[in-house]
Amino acid sequence: MKRIGAHVSASGGVENAPLNAQAIGATAFALFTKNQRQWRARPLTDQSIARFRENLERVAIEARYVLPHDSYLINLGHPEPEALEKSRDAFLDEMRRCEQLGLELLNFHPGSHLKQIPEEESLARVADSINRTLERTAGVTAVIENTAGQGTNLGHRFEHLAAIIDRVEDKSRVGVCLDTCHTFTAGYDLRTAESCEQTFGEFERIVGFAYLRGVHLNDSKPDLGSRVDRHESLGKGKLGWPVFEYIMNDPRFEEIPMVLETVDDTLWSAEIRQLYALQR
Ligand SMILES: [Zn+2]
Ligand SMILES: [Zn+2]
Repeated sequence: MKRIGAHVSASGGVENAPLNAQAIGATAFALFTKNQRQWRARPLTDQSIARFRENLERVAIEARYVLPHDSYLINLGHPEPEALEKSRDAFLDEMRRCEQLGLELLNFHPGSHLKQIPEEESLARVADSINRTLERTAGVTAVIENTAGQGTNLGHRFEHLAAIIDRVEDKSRVGVCLDTCHTFTAGYDLRTAESCEQTFGEFERIVGFAYLRGVHLNDSKPDLGSRVDRHESLGKGKLGWPVFEYIMNDPRFEEIPMVLETVDDTLWSAEIRQLYALQR
């Protein structure tokens, strides 16, 4: 079945996230396991970890349908050695937090070359960062999100995702997350069933659905190919409903967390109901 939710709040503690997901009728969810705008965080307490696991069981959402997102500060392809090291340390900490919570996925943006090194070299650093992290952890898959390609961000071409995966040693613990807004503003059309067929066909050829571990369901404020990352509520942006109808009826999107990151959280429960209603 399709597993739909939203990136819910973990304020007051990660243990609240499953309850916030249940409150909007979600069957999957995303969360930050620490403040996403700060480098350092206090370790998770044993109590918080135990309550998170308890609540996850109570709301009957399996760990594989939870898609934690890392901090926005982390750049695993950073051109400068010291900054790269700092990002790698923070990413390892994020992975370990997922391990502690019994989670299986960690969603992150690949990184930025900052115009200081060639794109290819930065992508190689991202892969190297993933390899180092996977060696030191167990049970959590690194899930690379495609981006809008704003500024010097990598990951807006499917080829970037493929180039990273190609260099990752343990292919069983690397995957990708497709964000519908990012895909569209990066230049891949998704406005009609035909364009979805073409774009997802291209994704299958270059990356492969075998690597798809999550989806971010967002409409887009900016237009096709604008390379700007601004989410919109479903049906209210430049994408409209066709892409969501397409995804909800395509078996390649079964049994993976698909989460809203749309701008108005008061609409989330309605958006989840609307998505399920699109199933034929
Ligand atoms: Zn993201
Ligand atoms: Zn996203």
